[in-house]
Amino acid sequence: KSGSTQNMAANIKVVVRVRPLNEKELEQNSRIVVDVVDDKMLVFDPKEEMRPFFYQGVQQPNKNFLKRANKELKFVFDNVCSQSATNRDVFETTTKDMLSALMEGYNCSVFVYGATGAGKTFTMIGNSEHPGITYLTMEHLFYIINSYEKDREFDIGVSYIEVYNENVYDLLKPSNTPLQLREDSKYGVMVAGLTLNNIKTARELLNMLENGNKNRTQHPTDANAESSRSHAVFQVYVKMRYKTSSQLRLVKLSMIDLAGSERASATGCVGERFKEGANINKSLLSLGNCINKLADGSSYIPYRDSKLTRLLKDSLGGNCKTVMIANVSPAHISYEDTYNTLKYAARANKI
Ligand code: ADP
Ligand code: MG
Repeated sequence: KSGSTQNMAANIKVVVRVRPLNEKELEQNSRIVVDVVDDKMLVFDPKEEMRPFFYQGVQQPNKNFLKRANKELKFVFDNVCSQSATNRDVFETTTKDMLSALMEGYNCSVFVYGATGAGKTFTMIGNSEHPGITYLTMEHLFYIINSYEKDREFDIGVSYIEVYNENVYDLLKPSNTPLQLREDSKYGVMVAGLTLNNIKTARELLNMLENGNKNRTQHPTDANAESSRSHAVFQVYVKMRYKTSSQLRLVKLSMIDLAGSERASATGCVGERFKEGANINKSLLSLGNCINKLADGSSYIPYRDSKLTRLLKDSLGGNCKTVMIANVSPAHISYEDTYNTLKYAARANKI
């Protein structure tokens, strides 16, 4: 292993979250295809208990002709959050520790990855009863900032944008005109014309996130009435001025609710919708590519291949901390999506 590979190992954390079955899946008495063994391991497509099989009152040898063989694949991750995990539990195992790295000057990023309906937005935004990790992270940020205020001054600005069809839009100030990306030698990647909202408490965030989320581009498709094809990017810019030296430092925390990872082909879309799908695959694909190249210690990372990776260029790899949260449904109906997500997460976990 090269030095840089080992370095990356410390910098990317992969957590899988399995959501509970929803009402529909419960009604259908859906088979569960993810078995959480402990807080690090899960089994995909576990073997079912051998049930005695009777034919005309006589117990038969257990030959189940109809059922294909179960895969029974073991996966190990940095953390596995089971069906009963709360958003706070997820926060505790993902972004909480990141914030001390942020204070030390590392840019940090968190992704939620997974198929539509797997629980990405629930994890990130949640609802008023179960606030998501964005709120919990910001609340903790304001808490730890307190302990640094003796020798630093802070200025916190937030933005909430979406990448849709390879265009960038402001979710806090909706407009049909896409925003342009710029690279600034001092501040890194900037979105031109984007206004940052100054906030002083996490509370101020709740409405902002909820309203911003309503502005996300959504289109009903054949496969999913609420399929979300946009990537939502919440960014926190922390400006710190050290009181003794008056040295200025800017760090960024990015929290990204990725578009659904299901394949465009599976949704049976043509024309404009198909183009959307192709572009989403492009951003997801190049995100995966960049992560893999970073893992290999490649000197060339193809950040320029998509808007999403250009936007996150200064928040991935090198001097950054990254958490990937892979969301899956345990129901049999999502078998392929779940399998694909686990494979994607396992690849990232090798890093
Ligand atoms: P995605 O953003 O990945 O498309 P959502 O976060 O919108 O998926 O989740 C789909 C549905 O499942 C929503 O109604 C959401 O409230 C619910 N859900 C997701 N994860 C959980 C969870 N851990 N606990 C309870 N409900 C959840
Ligand atoms: Mg969503």
